Amino acid sequence: MNKQELEKIKQQALEDHIPIIMDDTLEVVAKILQEVKPIRILEIGTAVGYSAICFSEYLKEDGRIDTIEREEERAKQARENIKKVEVEKKIQIYEGDAVEILPTLQESYDVIFIDAAKGKYPFFLEQALRMSHQGTVIIADNVLYKGYVMSDYNKHKQRTAVRNLREYIANITNDTNLETEILEVGDGLAISKVN
Ligand code: SAH
Ligand code: MG
Repeated sequence: MNKQELEKIKQQALEDHIPIIMDDTLEVVAKILQEVKPIRILEIGTAVGYSAICFSEYLKEDGRIDTIEREEERAKQARENIKKVEVEKKIQIYEGDAVEILPTLQESYDVIFIDAAKGKYPFFLEQALRMSHQGTVIIADNVLYKGYVMSDYNKHKQRTAVRNLREYIANITNDTNLETEILEVGDGLAISKVN
């Protein structure tokens, strides 16, 4: 992979205020990927493809990433970016709302990365569990949402997001089939391993 191009993609995304994965979060996810050695990864929330490109380095030979993005302009940018770093054979971009696309997927994934609309996390979890097997790791970014999730924050437009993130955390914590860890890294990272 072309590391110089990747760095350019990262800098451009930061400049454009696209919420790409934070460095310390990426470090944690990379460690998990090194352990799991996934063949199939599902990502919800492609943005401009930065995280998918980073993850593609840890795929087993012939492995592939499916990633979903609902904003046309970002999906287009992501397609251009994955070509630039020459990983287009490893990453399949689905353009559209994950709420509609996920139920149409009938695959089994080794790692699932949830990084999209916070208000939809409980639904994304349901779908992730449906496409999991023993050993699948479900990772959700931004679960602590700047700390709002842990405070009595209850205001305005973030309210639905906060309620749904709390529901997500409750669901992964109460599911006895999952082994869950929540890290304060980045904006909060939930890691759930399927038993
Ligand atoms: N994973 C990316 C960052 C994703 S930012 C990275 O680290 O590089 C979140 C993205 O999810 C945004 O581009 C947004 O358009 C997309 N998104 C939000 N809700 C979505 C949904 N319901 N379906 C598909 N994409 C969604
Ligand atoms: Mg994120």
